[in-house]
Parts: sequence; C-alpha cells; structure tokens
Amino acid sequence: MDTIQIKDKLFTVSIKEQDIQKEVIRVANEINRDLAGKNPLFLSVLNGSFMFTADLLKHITIPCEISFVKLASYQGITSTGVIKEVIGLNEDIAGRTVVIVEDIVDTGFTMQRLLETLGTRNPEAIHIASLLVKPDKLKVDLNIEYVAMEIPNDFIVGYGLDYDGFGRNYPDIYTVVD
Ligand code: 5GP
Ligand code: MG
Repeated sequence: MDTIQIKDKLFTVSIKEQDIQKEVIRVANEINRDLAGKNPLFLSVLNGSFMFTADLLKHITIPCEISFVKLASYQGITSTGVIKEVIGLNEDIAGRTVVIVEDIVDTGFTMQRLLETLGTRNPEAIHIASLLVKPDKLKVDLNIEYVAMEIPNDFIVGYGLDYDGFGRNYPDIYTVVD
C-alpha cells in the first residue's frame, strides 16, 4: 500500500518498514553499548510510541525494566499554550537511569516538560530515545541522544503515529499529501 486515505487526507508512504527496523536496531545497539550495567528503566510515552517501544525493546540485551506513561494536555497559561501533565508514573525513579521512549520530537516543548517533571524525582540520569525528530521545528535546546530518523517538517502517520486517532496500525510511515 503506497497510498492510504485517512478521513479527509491522503498519505503516501515515505519510510518503509525495513528501513525503520534497521534504524531501530541501530538505536538499540547504541543503548546496549552506552547503558550496560545501568539497569535502565525505559519510560514509554503512550500512545504514539507503542510500536517503537515494542520493537526497540526486543533488541535490548542488557538487564532493564519498562514502564508506560501518558501525557494529558490541558490549556495552560504559559506562552507555549499547552502544558502536559504526566500520568501513570508509579515507579520510583530516584537513583535510576531513565530512558524516555518517544515517537516524535517536533517543537520539543512536550519533551522539555517531561524532563522537568521527571527531573524533580531525583533520577541518576535521563536519556531520550525518539523514533523521529523534525530538526527544523525544534524550538528548545534538547540533547536527544538516540534518534532513529530525522525527517522534514511534514505531518506523518503510521508505525504508532495517528491522524485524529487513526493510522497507528501501519508498519510503514506515511507523509501527508497536500
Ligand atoms: P512537540 O511538543 O515536540 O511539538 O510535539 C510532540 C508531539 O506532537 C508528538 O508526541 C506527537 O504526538 C505530535 N506530533 C508532532 N509531529 C507529528 C506528526 O508529524 N505526526 C503525528 N501523528 N504527530 C505529531
Ligand atoms: Mg508522543
């Protein structure tokens, strides 16, 4: 399927499953190398990162734990407009090496907010693993150590990412046609 329709929009395939998997394995190997002996706690940010998390973790060979959080958005009063609240974090992360597993970093505001929240809980270290980054849209200074792929500014779906709730199920990544 090279083209898919979701609601009012047409999307065309832009990153094939095999290419995604290759980069996911590369990232897993980098983490295996860098975090050996750290017993990292992977913190998967739902919903978008569920597929990336599953594939990544299959290739993590060092002892590790995995947990899941969700970010609830609500209207805030800061200049960024939207503030995200972390829900579902039951683990004690004090003294732990945490690896945030995200689907995509766009402006970076979401990640910045997550780092602030987690930082107050005294982890030993926080690392970021993101399937995708849009470098041209990044508005905050973030050290994203583990990136599977950098992409241009276009809106994408598939491999966990949605358009209005749909499209998360595709193994490939699709870019909107405008
Ligand atoms: P940020 O706070 O970095 O601007 O936004 C990050 C969030 O925006 C991601 O977690 C994701 O939910 C959403 N997002 C940003 N770009 C895209 C995109 O191209 N496609 C989809 N489906 N979601 C996106
Ligand atoms: Mg996300």
